[in-house]
Amino acid sequence: MEYRNLGKSGLKVSELSFGSWVTFNKQVDTRLAEKMFGTCLDAGINFFDNAEGYERGESEIVMGKALKALNNPRDSYCVSSKVFFGAKENPLPTQRGLSRKHITEACHQAMERLQVDYLDLFFCHRADPETPIGETVWAMHNLVSQGKVLYWGTSEWSAEEITEAYEFAYSNNLTPPSMEQPQYNLLDRKRFENEYGPLYEKYGLGTTIWSPLASGALTGKYLDGVPKDSRASLEGYEWLRKSMVDSERGQERMKRVSALLPIAEQLNTSLSKLAIAWCLLNKNVSTVILGASKLEQLEENLASLDVLPLLEENVRAELEKI
Ligand code: NDP
Repeated sequence: MEYRNLGKSGLKVSELSFGSWVTFNKQVDTRLAEKMFGTCLDAGINFFDNAEGYERGESEIVMGKALKALNNPRDSYCVSSKVFFGAKENPLPTQRGLSRKHITEACHQAMERLQVDYLDLFFCHRADPETPIGETVWAMHNLVSQGKVLYWGTSEWSAEEITEAYEFAYSNNLTPPSMEQPQYNLLDRKRFENEYGPLYEKYGLGTTIWSPLASGALTGKYLDGVPKDSRASLEGYEWLRKSMVDSERGQERMKRVSALLPIAEQLNTSLSKLAIAWCLLNKNVSTVILGASKLEQLEENLASLDVLPLLEENVRAELEKI
């Protein structure tokens, strides 16, 4: 495992990290989470991603219990949370968004659920057009000053919104964001590569990228339909199934997936490993957040590091064409 700086910050994050969206509390219980964390830590992973909105806070509870059971020193790993969607089924107006009130309370609640006394990374899970940017930046700055948050950032904000946050922080001597959490994979590249392009150089923006396998599409396992115990078959995720498979867009993406398969075969590897390794080629990626519902998936995905040296110029060019 290699370690990359989180943008221009001094924090060294492992190039692969591990997240809990969909999986923890739904497909992964505390015992399995503990095993998965053990596997991650043995492989050198030092960052675990979570959010108040995942399983309405239950995902953080599972993660907190598993990390506690492992009893690794707190200074040996990083945990994150994200604020915006709220942790309740139907959050009240004060229980969601990016107001000073909700940001402050969400931080305290996440620390409690995760059983930690500070969050290494804290993200604004989406932009909040109903809260002035200055209020959000001040709230994050205060949490950093209090030692409750070490690095704050955004997730799926537009380049313009991220720029506003930096400029407000700089002109008021406040702590600027350090990172953004965007989607990035072989099928979803535009925002990361084009829209954010100028931000990497200008602000030293770090990135913790999500869905490196496009929710599993880039494993190739959806090519013959939706497998029984896959993410797209889960109750409550019908919207995902629609966008992954049952739509024109989904079908167009599946065509690309089937065109990618032979490249993986030529390299004698799996498409999953190839797709994850490809994300690491981009130096603006600080860490690729893996997702897995089974231990074997996690083990396979960790082995993507072995595929990285195989991605030579000619292979990259073939991938680029597709
Ligand atoms: P992926 O795109 O890698 O999808 C992971 C899912 O794909 C697994 O849960 C599993 O689902 C399937 N899968 C993974 N590996 C394999 C394999 N080797 N073989 C077969 N199936 C496999 O990542 P995620 O979408 O889970 O995103 C990773 C993390 O990023 C999240 O946990 C979260 O922390 C973060 N995230 C952040 C978002 C944001 O808005 N900031 C949004 C989404 C994610 P199954 O077995 O059920 O089919």
